Amino acid sequence: MKTTRAPAPRPYRSYVYAYPHKTAYRELADPPELAALWAGEPKDALSLYAHVPFCEVRCGFCNLFTRIGAPGELTTRYLDALDRQATAVREALGDGEPVRFATAAFGGGTPTFLTAAELERLCDIAERRMGADLRAVPLSVETSPATATADRLAVLAGRGATRLSIGVQSFVEAEARAAVRPQRRADVEAALGRIRDTGVPVLNIDLIYGIDGQTEESWRLSLDAALAWRPEELYLYPLYVRPLTGLGRTPPEDDREWDERRLRLYRYGRDHLLAHGYEQVSMRMFRRRDAAPLGPDDHACQTDGMIGLGCGARSYTSALHYSFDYAVDMREIRSIIDAYTETGDFSRARVGRWVDAGEARRRHLLQSLLQAEGMPVAGYEERFGSSPFADFPEELGRFEALGWLDGEAPEGLLRLSPEGLAHSDGLGPELFSPGVRAAMAAYEPK
Ligand code: SF4
Repeated sequence: MKTTRAPAPRPYRSYVYAYPHKTAYRELADPPELAALWAGEPKDALSLYAHVPFCEVRCGFCNLFTRIGAPGELTTRYLDALDRQATAVREALGDGEPVRFATAAFGGGTPTFLTAAELERLCDIAERRMGADLRAVPLSVETSPATATADRLAVLAGRGATRLSIGVQSFVEAEARAAVRPQRRADVEAALGRIRDTGVPVLNIDLIYGIDGQTEESWRLSLDAALAWRPEELYLYPLYVRPLTGLGRTPPEDDREWDERRLRLYRYGRDHLLAHGYEQVSMRMFRRRDAAPLGPDDHACQTDGMIGLGCGARSYTSALHYSFDYAVDMREIRSIIDAYTETGDFSRARVGRWVDAGEARRRHLLQSLLQAEGMPVAGYEERFGSSPFADFPEELGRFEALGWLDGEAPEGLLRLSPEGLAHSDGLGPELFSPGVRAAMAAYEPK
């Protein structure tokens, strides 16, 4: 393998949870009809995602597509639009071959910003309009301490939720304030108790490291407070300060020092969880080793299609990733949501990016390599008819030179080393194509 020596990329560039990133999407010339886009696509293991773009507060680190509050029946109008979109999408999927959803998720924003009755309606849309059998497939829902009320959680549990994910971020009140997400520890603990009372099998807790004033001791306090609930999953997120977010106006310490501090806290958190019965699934995700298996989940994110409902949701066919307009600034988000609620014709994709064979290879490599279990080389070769080492000699050579590939991995498995995993957010962007990089660089944040 060819090796190239160059300085290591910074460890915290961006979190690659989807490739290409939405900032590489553009208005589509001659917007294609959904029916044509989905014709011929496999539809027997689709993923359904519904986006609820409302929160009670805007956390200082958040650049997700969401707004604070929902004045004047906005949630009703939003659900009306979601219903219209679901109807149009289901029609576009057609009945020529069986349509089946293998997994479902409600995210945001905060889906539990909706009332219990509105959550019932959201589930109805997923089931009756889209045909998803929510009680038969994994259904994940995000929530927050203030909105995880007993009545809402009861609806979700009753409709088949298998996973409730709560953004706690920190159990230390001063840190929560520093991250512009003020909350009382007692309220967080009460919400966790209500979630456990539902009996939903998987509890996930999100925590953040790198907050101003956070030390190893205070980080450990949050980790232990979370561990006390024996969550089946824990996500440890590095704090990012991004343009147009609440924290974006006050950059903290020197970048290098902050990188070092985040890396130190990451390693501390990882080792703490590994020592407490958790296994690492990715840089961010940890799963309790003795947690019951989740049941059937035959959706493969590298290859299977996704249907996104709502104005912040993405949809993927093998050839096109599409969504609606994207923004981080509150005013822009409000106007995009308003425009979505007024949309009558959902039969075409209007904003997106075409994914050619080269991009599909990159996406497959990215999404597999960033998992701790690594990528079976044979699976890649079977799908693309070429070797990842031939397709990405420079990138993989560089990762190897940086010590980011696991030299001890079994034959035929391309896997990151612990340091490679630690640098996931620096490594991921190295695999972006020149075209996607250029589109992201040309994107004007709004
Ligand atoms: S982090 Fe979650 S709760 Fe906070 S503003 Fe973003 S979507 Fe809302």
